[in-house]
Amino acid sequence: MNLKKIKFCPVCGAKIVNIQTKSSQPTHPTCLTCQFVFYQNPTPTVLAVILKNKQLLLIQRKNSPYQNLWALPGGFVEVGQTLDSALQSELDEELKVKIKTKKYFGSFVSQYELHGIKEAIVATAFKVTLQNYQFSLGDELKNVGFFALDHLPKIAPFFDNQKIIKKLKETHS
Ligand SMILES: [Zn+2]
Repeated sequence: MNLKKIKFCPVCGAKIVNIQTKSSQPTHPTCLTCQFVFYQNPTPTVLAVILKNKQLLLIQRKNSPYQNLWALPGGFVEVGQTLDSALQSELDEELKVKIKTKKYFGSFVSQYELHGIKEAIVATAFKVTLQNYQFSLGDELKNVGFFALDHLPKIAPFFDNQKIIKKLKETHS
């Protein structure tokens, strides 16, 4: 699946075409002039699954896209960050809280669309407990709350959020 619309070779500037170099692999944008192959790897994100008294912590978005809808805390892994440091820095930014314990919950394939270009995402979710549950909302948030899994508010239509919540319901039913 080619998600990026690559038109010109970043090495020689010639036109790029989508070809399949090995039958077992997806097609990649490839330069027929200099043989450059534009391999497309997913962008990593991290997400926190925080449960308290069997209720799930969700944050409400202040801005578009998906203004006023709810989501799991988390975000993109920046260059130089590990999954661990990215998760802590997102929780600092969004809620000003420190992680106490963290356990791998699963990884999920997703997509993110910006300006009509779809980015492939691989989201890693961790089950997190916090050092304390006093929240101070970051600039991009409208609200934070805990919700029973069978009474969730309207979730932003991120594929990874939906998949994580589905798995959570299955494992907590
Ligand atoms: Zn080229």
